[in-house]
Amino acid sequence: MAILLFIIGAIFGSFYLVIGTRLPKGENVINDRSRCEYCHKELKWYELIPIFSYVIQKGKCNNCGKRISIEHLIMEIVTASIFLIGYLYFGLTLKLGIFLVIVSVTLIIFVSDFKYMIILDSPLVIGSILIIIIRYFEVGFNGTLYSIFCGIILFFFMFLIKLLGDKMYHRESLGGGDIKLCFLIGLTLGYPDIGIRMSLIALIFSAFLALPYAVATIYLIKKNELPYGPFLISSMVIVFTFIDKFSNLLGLFDIF
Ligand SMILES: [Zn+2]
Repeated sequence: MAILLFIIGAIFGSFYLVIGTRLPKGENVINDRSRCEYCHKELKWYELIPIFSYVIQKGKCNNCGKRISIEHLIMEIVTASIFLIGYLYFGLTLKLGIFLVIVSVTLIIFVSDFKYMIILDSPLVIGSILIIIIRYFEVGFNGTLYSIFCGIILFFFMFLIKLLGDKMYHRESLGGGDIKLCFLIGLTLGYPDIGIRMSLIALIFSAFLALPYAVATIYLIKKNELPYGPFLISSMVIVFTFIDKFSNLLGLFDIF
């Protein structure tokens, strides 16, 4: 089972890189066959096996000999490892299902937001639908409605922060994608017994995650814009995974 999860992770990771790279540019993801980005030769099936093909071909195209970007290998190994770790940590449970969904959305957002500062709608929509389905099996119909309600509350909460930020800085303070992402956060972390409190902890924790990167971009690269989506969603994955540890902080938000 662990080996299977690793292999599925490697295949999905390869696909997530394609989605995060091609979709923001308006390119076809499903029907277009994979090609070498230099000589555009269509890749054969044995050149498309994640991790394996890259290692066998020593990271070069079989046709033109140009280097294949290392990001393919990194993405495949990282996704495979996270899927494997998720299985070892959660076992075959519904929690593992939610973990795999949010990790998948996270990886796609990492690619598209760091590359193009874009958070795609389609992974958010598909991810939300999958979580709603799994949540139904976890807590039933009323519990699922409650989770959806938490998502809507967090969405409007973040929208309010954006409006305030826009007024204060006289420019766009938060991207639309970050706000839509908050629906997924509220939905995922909004269990009937804890409400939106865990989501608020995730929002605060995301600021701590982003801080070193923000300081580095502002002082080293002199840019005052940074993709926030990857930090928001990583924070959600961390809080969801270690929800027992974070529940000590719930008392901070008892008024909610
Ligand atoms: Zn080539």
